[in-house]
Amino acid sequence: MPFLTAKAAPPGLPDGVRKSRIVAVIVGVVALGFSLVTVANYWVSRSAIRQAIVESDLPLTSDTLYSEIQQDLLKPIFVSSLMAHDTFLRDWVLAGEKDPEQMVRYLDEIKRKYDAFTAFFVSDRSRIYYQNKGILKTVREDEPRDVWFFRVRGMERPYETNVDPDMANEDSITIFINFRVLDYAGRFLGATGVGLRATAVKQLVERYQREYRRTVYFVDRKGMLVLYGHEMDAAEPDIRKRPGISAVAGALLGQEHGRFEYHAANGATIFLNSRFIPDLDWYLLVEQNGDAALAPARRTLVQNLAVGLFATLVVTWLCAVLVRRSQRHLEELAATDVLTGALSRLAFDVVFAQTRQRAKRDAKPLALAFFDIDHFKEINDRLGHAMGDAALVAVVERLRAEVRSGDALCRWGGEEFLLLLEDCDLSQAREVAEKARQSLLAAPLELDEGPALAATVSVGVAELKPGEDADGLIARADAALYAAKAAGRNRVVCAN
Ligand code: GH3
Ligand code: MG
Ligand code: MG
Repeated sequence: MPFLTAKAAPPGLPDGVRKSRIVAVIVGVVALGFSLVTVANYWVSRSAIRQAIVESDLPLTSDTLYSEIQQDLLKPIFVSSLMAHDTFLRDWVLAGEKDPEQMVRYLDEIKRKYDAFTAFFVSDRSRIYYQNKGILKTVREDEPRDVWFFRVRGMERPYETNVDPDMANEDSITIFINFRVLDYAGRFLGATGVGLRATAVKQLVERYQREYRRTVYFVDRKGMLVLYGHEMDAAEPDIRKRPGISAVAGALLGQEHGRFEYHAANGATIFLNSRFIPDLDWYLLVEQNGDAALAPARRTLVQNLAVGLFATLVVTWLCAVLVRRSQRHLEELAATDVLTGALSRLAFDVVFAQTRQRAKRDAKPLALAFFDIDHFKEINDRLGHAMGDAALVAVVERLRAEVRSGDALCRWGGEEFLLLLEDCDLSQAREVAEKARQSLLAAPLELDEGPALAATVSVGVAELKPGEDADGLIARADAALYAAKAAGRNRVVCAN
């Protein structure tokens, strides 16, 4: 069957370009709808995750840490307070610090009883540093390591918490409770208290970092890092100068509780919860990397999009294949005569237009032979309509056998056929038609049922004139055919 291009198809037939445009629009709409739903889902879960971090996860972590720290610190503060108010201690100092052994024993007892790392008393009068192991040294105002004592001496609050400045060795981080000891008249006698290893708090910090992927650390009132996990880069210990957090440090250091959001150097959004811990005089900071928390949701988004788009493409492809198949079937039906398999009139128009264009381009002749079976009505009347149909099929087979396979044969009407002869002038076309006529004459039609049937045809032949259209050519061939009929049938007549 000749190939019908979309361009040459008459307006009634679906147009290929339009079809693929419709498919593209459908793919677009389905993909867009799916993408919108997926992205909307992502945004919903994203804001839920953010909300959970900001309103629940971080505050809960902060609360839990706070209460654990409180528990860890309450006892040493309580013990230090007991020491500061102990009448033995005060009386012993007021009596002139006579027997240092008594003080050392007292401190050792405290240390052992309360499982402290160290217990101490520093006398303001003698400046002697008593420790649970003995006399440690004498504190001096010009010694940097003793600065704490003179700070406590001038302090208004009853006690302070202080971290051992030697933080080089991680294990030796010690939190000291420095309690002011006053005599019965309220005058300053010295500082006492216990020291405890910060490892417990530090372990807590590390555990939280590990288990919840949150960063936990402490800064003092001025914003200097004091306690943090080993993963933290402490090259810049001042949060007012640390990249990212510096943007919120000012606000953070001014309030007891705070929720903040800042961008890390790598662009990640960091959610930060801060709270002031009065006992430590520190801020507890808990941070969570929002981007890391959102990563699973983002992965799901990408996966959903990929799966959805793939499914859309597969479904669309299947639809396109099915539509194209049924389309082709319809086109075949429209282009072919169901009974004989010859071209339909519809298809003949298309083929004629293409062939005429080719002939014009190549400056080749184009001719048409118009066949009509003689006295076909009689065949119908004699043998019945079904045999008439079989005769039509047999005539088409015979004609086909006599012409080139490229020549388009069309069933024009009931028992009328058009044969388009490419690259044939009038006399060549006449020869072809004559050969076909002779072939029918030479041997009767062999039908599946019934006797062999002798049939003849009359043919009108015409050659395309320059500028002539299909109607003009067909009309001239038809006139020639009429002449052949009039002249007695079973003959070929050429149009003038
Ligand atoms: P003529 O030599 O003048 O052509 O005589 P004719 O009997 O062939 O006359 P005409 O062309 O007018 O008649 C064609 C007949 O073909 C009429 C119609 O009943 C019959 N016919 C048309 N289509 C079909 C068909 O599909 N099948 C059958 N069996 N007969 C058909
Ligand atoms: Mg007829
Ligand atoms: Mg006829």
